[in-house]
Amino acid sequence: MKHPQQHEVLITKEDIEKHVRRLAEEISRDYRDKYPLMVGILKGSFVFLSDLIRSLEIPVEVDFVRICSYGHRKVTSGNVKMVQGLRSKVKDRDVIIVDDIVDTGLATNHLINHLRKKGPTSIKVCALLDKPSRRKITIPIDYRGIVIPDKFVVGYGLDYDERYRDLPYICALED
Ligand code: 5GP
Ligand code: MG
Repeated sequence: MKHPQQHEVLITKEDIEKHVRRLAEEISRDYRDKYPLMVGILKGSFVFLSDLIRSLEIPVEVDFVRICSYGHRKVTSGNVKMVQGLRSKVKDRDVIIVDDIVDTGLATNHLINHLRKKGPTSIKVCALLDKPSRRKITIPIDYRGIVIPDKFVVGYGLDYDERYRDLPYICALED
């Protein structure tokens, strides 16, 4: 079965498209005449990143990092580790971190600190989803998609135990 049995559609495909277009407009305007490096956090952001860059009106370089956080499947533990780093040169670049969801903020914070040491011109964060109720550390989200309540969501790149990344909409799993 493709769709989870117990689910509630939280954000439709059309709503996602609308927000992706808005974020792409904001980024295209702010980075006019620039060539930012977009860093997607695997695996969750791959769908969002691929839609986002196709809506941009500026050229970008794309790279990925993979960050693992150990703990229960639905909860990020404080233990965050980068398991695949960047190949691209970060020094003197304008970097935009592209995140599927900022939840506790720990994974994004880890990446910001890592990138800062490499001497970029600027670092900004673009997140499709923001779950502020569970934040453990303040993260500046420069390009924010949709604020969601404290629910575990899947679809559009986000998984539960590696399933549901392929759904074109975002839904909340029931406990
Ligand atoms: P953090 O808690 O560090 O902000 O989030 C780290 C990662 O946990 C996110 O990039 C995402 O992959 C995963 N995550 C956080 N909240 C959810 C959620 O509601 N659903 C899914 N599928 N993953 C989540
Ligand atoms: Mg995950």
